Amino acid sequence: MTVIERFLKYVTFDTQSDESTGVTPSTPKQMVFAQYLKTELEELGLKDISLDENGYLFATLPSNVNHEVPVVGFIAHMDTSPDMSGENVKPRIVEKYDGKDIPLCAEENIILSPANFPELLDHVGEDLIVTDGHTLLGADDKAGIAEIVGAVAYLIAHPEIKHGDIRIGFNPDEEIGLGAHKFDVEKFGAKWAYTMDGGEVGELEFENFNAAAAKIRVKGRNVHPGYAKNKMINSLLVANEYASLLPANETPGTTEGYEGFYHLIGMEGEVENTVLSYIVRDHDREKFEARKQALLNYAAQLNEKYGEGTVTVELKDQYYNMRQQVEPLMHIIDIAFAAMQEAGVTPKVKAIRGGTDGAQLSFKGLPCPNIFAGGLNFHGRYEFVPVQSIEKAMNVVVKIAELTAKRYC
Ligand SMILES: [Zn+2]
Repeated sequence: MTVIERFLKYVTFDTQSDESTGVTPSTPKQMVFAQYLKTELEELGLKDISLDENGYLFATLPSNVNHEVPVVGFIAHMDTSPDMSGENVKPRIVEKYDGKDIPLCAEENIILSPANFPELLDHVGEDLIVTDGHTLLGADDKAGIAEIVGAVAYLIAHPEIKHGDIRIGFNPDEEIGLGAHKFDVEKFGAKWAYTMDGGEVGELEFENFNAAAAKIRVKGRNVHPGYAKNKMINSLLVANEYASLLPANETPGTTEGYEGFYHLIGMEGEVENTVLSYIVRDHDREKFEARKQALLNYAAQLNEKYGEGTVTVELKDQYYNMRQQVEPLMHIIDIAFAAMQEAGVTPKVKAIRGGTDGAQLSFKGLPCPNIFAGGLNFHGRYEFVPVQSIEKAMNVVVKIAELTAKRYC
């Protein structure tokens, strides 16, 4: 089976996750896919294969060298986004893409067009795997799974390529933010790992936001409006005042790259009580701490004006930048960088403006940068993946295995 045949098989499994069920895996159909993958790994002859009751599938490709090589892991997620159906996916390969519109569903006029998705033009001449316009494709992250299984199969077929123990892990529920929660890092037993879950060819990510949530509670004082002079405090207006103290140019809509922000995600209230909900994001830990302090300072400023206890701030850290965990092991980035170059891929190091499973795993003790899986337009009907990108990502996995063994020779 080629890596593309594997991918086309995987996308026929509906593995959509569901935020509302409260169980792991969040949907039983993910377990069906996990069982299928388990059989495939057994047929490949992998060792230490385990599928736990939460749907985490681990396996090992044993070392073929005599010297000690650190165990390297490769991780991908089995679920697809709750945003769009993943049932009855009918992939189609557009060979030698000519740069024009691609009709996904002619009857309903669903078109994948470079006018809306200019990144298509980076893949002219390549073979694009697209949907029929009615589901997502599931390249996020079945491309990642195919690349890892494909690489392992390749290494088995090419024993002349020397490598240490390669550990692979497939997890459920990444799309609902729970991929890392029940990931048994100790049982996985790798020194470090890579999630194969990025987008465009070359992406290499080891920085993400530091993240906190803040609830700003404003207490008002309600009085009959006819007799309210110098008595009423309208919490809605004080909340509005609070919101306007925050720098207007530090929002998601006005920032990019390494610029952090405050994001007002909810406001709810009446005269007596108003709650503002914010998320706070910054790659830099010091600036992140300063942002949280600023939220407290703005509250103090208004309390001075309206009385102690008018504004209270509740802060909760959500996750941290994995850079802090990866930096002491910079060789794991160097190896990925060199592996890409040897596979003919130009590395594009990029800071994630969000969080990842890899960040959570990094803080659970498994440093885990993210590498491209090749797909684009995730989570919708316009999702596509070039055949050549899947093949390149697979080669990167093979090269990482090879370079790690060389480095520890
Ligand atoms: Zn993903």
